[in-house]
Amino acid sequence: MNQTFWLTNSLSGKKEKLETIEPGKLTMYSCGPTVYGLIHIGNLRSGVVSDLFYRAFQKAGYEVTYVRNYTDVDDKIINKANEEGRSSEEVAAEFVIEVEKDYQSAHMLEPTLKTKATEYIQPMIRMIESIIKEGKAYVTETGEVLFSVEDFQGYGKLSGKNLEELEAGARVEVSDQKRSPFDFTLWKPAKPGEPSWDSPWGKGRPGWHIECSAMIHEAMGPQIDIHHGGEDLVFPHHENEIAQSEAACGKSPFVKVWLHHAFLTFNQTKMSKSLGNVFNARTFIEQYGGELARWMLLSVHYRKILDFSEETIDHSLSALERLYEAKLRATQLKERRTLRPDPVKESVWGEFVSQIENYKKELNEAISQDFNTPEVFSVLFRLVREFNRIQSTEGMIDTPSVSLAAECFLNFIEKDFGEIMGLGGEEPRAYLKFLGEIRSKRMSTSGAESLSSDEIEVLIQERKDARASKDYAKADEIRNHLLERGVEIKDGPQGTTWKYV
Ligand code: AMP
Ligand code: ZN
Repeated sequence: MNQTFWLTNSLSGKKEKLETIEPGKLTMYSCGPTVYGLIHIGNLRSGVVSDLFYRAFQKAGYEVTYVRNYTDVDDKIINKANEEGRSSEEVAAEFVIEVEKDYQSAHMLEPTLKTKATEYIQPMIRMIESIIKEGKAYVTETGEVLFSVEDFQGYGKLSGKNLEELEAGARVEVSDQKRSPFDFTLWKPAKPGEPSWDSPWGKGRPGWHIECSAMIHEAMGPQIDIHHGGEDLVFPHHENEIAQSEAACGKSPFVKVWLHHAFLTFNQTKMSKSLGNVFNARTFIEQYGGELARWMLLSVHYRKILDFSEETIDHSLSALERLYEAKLRATQLKERRTLRPDPVKESVWGEFVSQIENYKKELNEAISQDFNTPEVFSVLFRLVREFNRIQSTEGMIDTPSVSLAAECFLNFIEKDFGEIMGLGGEEPRAYLKFLGEIRSKRMSTSGAESLSSDEIEVLIQERKDARASKDYAKADEIRNHLLERGVEIKDGPQGTTWKYV
């Protein structure tokens, strides 16, 4: 391996040199979505980040086995299915298809294996049996199987939580079934209206955590190199995965390197379905396209919070325009032929081409340093600037070597940068047109945001006055004016409310 990765391992909290279990091979797992609705842009960050890891490891020459799951049995899926009078299989199957569409739009590669929890029930049952045999799980009177955290040495090693402190601070009611408040469910008995499977403990279904442990074991064995997920999963999900896998298989560490990405936030609050502050990935992609979505999601280092805002979108839009303008120019110059050689110009372009090798090294270095994507973008734009500077210098394009230089530059964009980042592959002319349309739409609606709430309140008062004096034409005019500026008003018992649309 001629590329050494240094990765921040959540287990140690340190940046560590990656040494895989088997040299040249790499096993990786990422916790995927629960399929009961469209994913939001925060979930898409999870997918895109794991896809970046996969691409980077492959590009570095590892033979990668990459497994990603779909949680297709879960309370939320069951609730939705019951509300809609459908089976949970039907709901899950529908949203697996929908999620895949968004993943494809965001240029995500197919993992080596995509697993669904319901297809791994037997391996889960086998694993639970092993844990019970090891004396680290127990069956309650009601037929629930619980993991006994106190019987597993090292519980808390990933999240840095200490069981005694946890228990002291626990506000969780210790049910009479649980020996410790942090014992968690491996198997629960069936309830009417829920999917269930036969097991040694009667009909039931698995707890959430066991699916990842069982799928990993089945697909890749008792130990893997990389495990990825959002930082919300560190505790308890990943902590519990470690407990289950190490208890069942007796191998430690279950995972060599844990990688956790930070949240995508909306107005500084985590975007989440349960909070209701979601922006669907689908809506975003329909508006801005997958290339821009991916660009935005990778513009911030995966371990840093990404606040989703108009400004973030604008930055990505401008960066993409800059890149694709240079790409368009390079595409045109690549075709330039039948020019007279000029030794001075040849040497400038020759120097540019040889510099590209250095940029490639810098790019690989940035990626191997804990996937430093902001640095990757900075390397790219230094090269773009250099290309722009030379090609816009008087006479510099009138020489045969310009086409080779343009070709090398394009190769850098599409292969070196593009294959790792999953970006830069659009046809420049059509794509610039698309970006131009986005820009003009944003310009025409940005006036709406510039109407301050005070200005809106004044207009609402004017409309109220107009209505009071029965001047309905004027009242309608004000309503339409507000709408044109992107503000929708609604009359209700509490008066008139408004929102940006
Ligand atoms: P879920 O469907 O909630 O299990 O989430 C699927 C993946 O998306 C997990 O890796 C989560 O950690 C991740 N995720 C959920 N919400 C966010 C968010 N706001 N920002 C980043 N990742 C998230
Ligand atoms: Zn998981």
